[in-house]
Amino acid sequence: APAAFTGADVYQRSFDPQEYLKEFYSLSDSQGQPNTFLMQNLRSLFKMFSLDGLRGDTLIDVGCGPTIYQLLSACEHFQEIIALDYTDQNRRELEKWLKNEAGAFDWKPVVKYVCELEGDREKWAEKEEKLRKKVRQVLKCDVTKANPTDPVSLPPADCIVSTLCLEAACKDLATFRSALRNIGGLVKPGGHLVMVTVLRETYYAFNKQVFSCLYLEKNMVEEAVEGAGFDVKFSEVQTYLAGDIRTDCEAVLSLVARRRASIT
Ligand code: SAH
Repeated sequence: APAAFTGADVYQRSFDPQEYLKEFYSLSDSQGQPNTFLMQNLRSLFKMFSLDGLRGDTLIDVGCGPTIYQLLSACEHFQEIIALDYTDQNRRELEKWLKNEAGAFDWKPVVKYVCELEGDREKWAEKEEKLRKKVRQVLKCDVTKANPTDPVSLPPADCIVSTLCLEAACKDLATFRSALRNIGGLVKPGGHLVMVTVLRETYYAFNKQVFSCLYLEKNMVEEAVEGAGFDVKFSEVQTYLAGDIRTDCEAVLSLVARRRASIT
């Protein structure tokens, strides 16, 4: 049965970043099985950030969680990155890695994999350093607020990226649509939105806890993106071969859209 909605307060209270990372961001599991979900998403992100026009000065990551994989290809094309998330513990976990602190998650296998996609596996240490330098701020945000970073006002960015966040943060389609309008305000007209969203998923679980997920189809996401003032430029569905007890996810949508010029 679909899980009851788990809102931002539940994330703040019970989302354990280290358990999340261990469960979903190892390149292979304890039986040595490859993490196809992650590898697929890394390939999509590489492809999307290679598209024409996906470059500029500033990038904002919305709902970053404790992860950096979504920034590995992105950091080659933007000068400054601001990462946003609702929960204190996820921002803290991300900072641990950024500051190279003891106990930080080991992203090396993932960084190496992305370097290999980009043509040079040997560059992983350089890439880590580049990313650590480029992430300038890690701030609190709430995607359900008109200004997600309220009371802070960020200058609109050249690009925003959001992976696996809105479908977790939004209780229904109306909230999802308005969250897209809210985060759309963080990007300049003419700037880009890069999204990775799971489709037809109602829950994911780890560490004996279940988190709800808004059930979405490709057209629902695309319509919401268009409705938030963007033109969809790239949209690709990859099926996720089930047989996974941790989630009922069936596919992943990778999408790039460009914010329309405002008509005022
Ligand atoms: N982007 C990461 C994390 C996804 S997990 C990844 O790709 O793995 C979902 C994230 O959404 C969590 O980090 C959670 O803290 C965040 N979140 C939940 N509700 C939110 C809200 N209302 N505003 C902003 N972030 C929220």
